[in-house]
Amino acid sequence: MADKAKFQAIKGVRDILPPESALWTRVEQTARDVFGTFGFGEIRLPIFERTELFARSIGVDTDVVLKEMYSFEDKGRGELAVLRDVLAGFNPAPHSAEFRNTVMKALDKYWEALNSPSSSDEVPRDPDNLKLIEAFKRNYNQFLRVRTSESALTSELTDALVWGLQSLARLIQLGEFVSLRPEATASVVRAYIEHGMQTLPGNVKLYYVGPMFRRERPQKGRYRQFYQIGAEVLGPSDAPGIDAEVIEMLMRLFERLKLKGAVLNINSIGDKNCRPAYVEKLRAELQKVRDQLSADSQRRIETNPLRVLDSKLESEQAIINKLPHIDQNLCADCRTHYDEVKRQLKIRGILPTENWRLVRGLDYYMRTTFEITAPGLGSQNAVCGGGRYDGLVELLGGPASTKGIGFAIGTDRLVLSLQEAGETRADVTVRVTGSALTVAAGSVTVSGSGPDVFLAWFGAAAQAAAVGLARRLRDAGFVVELPAVEMKFGKSLGLADRLKARHAVIVGDDELAAGVVTVKRLSDSSQQKLNEQELFSYLREDRAT
Ligand code: AMP
Repeated sequence: MADKAKFQAIKGVRDILPPESALWTRVEQTARDVFGTFGFGEIRLPIFERTELFARSIGVDTDVVLKEMYSFEDKGRGELAVLRDVLAGFNPAPHSAEFRNTVMKALDKYWEALNSPSSSDEVPRDPDNLKLIEAFKRNYNQFLRVRTSESALTSELTDALVWGLQSLARLIQLGEFVSLRPEATASVVRAYIEHGMQTLPGNVKLYYVGPMFRRERPQKGRYRQFYQIGAEVLGPSDAPGIDAEVIEMLMRLFERLKLKGAVLNINSIGDKNCRPAYVEKLRAELQKVRDQLSADSQRRIETNPLRVLDSKLESEQAIINKLPHIDQNLCADCRTHYDEVKRQLKIRGILPTENWRLVRGLDYYMRTTFEITAPGLGSQNAVCGGGRYDGLVELLGGPASTKGIGFAIGTDRLVLSLQEAGETRADVTVRVTGSALTVAAGSVTVSGSGPDVFLAWFGAAAQAAAVGLARRLRDAGFVVELPAVEMKFGKSLGLADRLKARHAVIVGDDELAAGVVTVKRLSDSSQQKLNEQELFSYLREDRAT
């Protein structure tokens, strides 16, 4: 009789099988196509990073870091690690003379292994660890001197020294502490800094696709290994047009996937100038109703009052809804930024729901936050979360002037919502000709290949026209770079050049009045005026050559 199957996937992780996997491929490929037309390039990141990276970026008081990370000490499998475990496992003194001998032998071997070239290469050399190793060395030398004599007094001293050495051995790190990534923004920022991407022209636009790991309580739409498709824009500008374009890109993706009933919620959470005062106001109001709140919310009054707004507890909803709203407490700059984000969304035909309770608890998050919910998901109905995080690059040791905004889509939930709606068509059109290939080759900013079109616009009316034209060009598969803010003519063409665009398409008042655009081929500066139909034919022809 065949053995009963012994192995099953671990709790909270699962296999994705055909035909469902084909739907996953369609979703991920569509994201690559759509993001590519916005000039984003793929970054492939490590699955694990130093624990400290996540502790610093996500925050040491978050559930993700405190309770949900899969972390381990990346020590070698050699004798050093075994000896450390052996030492740690010994009972505390007093020991019998015979047992003391065993402990001593283990200590000798441990010290020898710690100093052997093969192990010492792997032992972290940071100042704290070096201090511990130094302390071990001092105590060990003292222990060597004392252990040779056999009086009752020295036995006690030996026991004390052994106990100290055991404790130190437990503390000495034998490898880096690493964690499986619970999210990818920290890794993208680490990579941005590590590879000096701030020297690249314009904003750097990156996307990633892959698994994340959080030790949460599994339920529908919540797994311990789950998948995200995310994107980040990092660079010198925090123009509201960037926020709007990132959101537009998401909406285009959901549209292409035929995800129905997606609701975009947005908010502004201010910045370091205006948020502290709001947080204090909130804290004061929460103190007044403290008795009516849950233990979690009571704790958050001290640690992070903004997090109270996240509460899903039925009993707290009426109380929370009476709290002061952040949008009446924004400073002038944040107000202007927020209004402009909304206006920029409007010219893209996107009408968000404003949700003042959409917050992020970490200090480096600022201004725009957004979330997209989708039907068919029960209580875990957020398919995407995102926001601006202008302080993160600096926090992780990069240039203070670098701004950032990004989002992460929960692929498991996106797929689930599509399945619930019967949208399980799995065929993928992978275009292998034209600019889809350019897209696959990498982003405008990171690789050598540039966009098909740099769409320069001058004046508010021209921007609206340019946004529309960009959309139609991208829908046709062209890679389009659209400046988020108005730029001077020379600067605009300079940037088009540096981004290695093939063409600059110029939209100004004259062009608008005449119903044409000016197209300049950047390789030879030849220039002509074309209407939209002629522009598309021209670009298609150019692409074919
Ligand atoms: P976050 O990084 O927490 O903002 O999450 C971004 C998105 O990832 C959420 O909106 C969810 O769609 C998805 N997500 C987060 N945690 C999980 C999980 N444990 N299982 C499945 N999807 C998740």
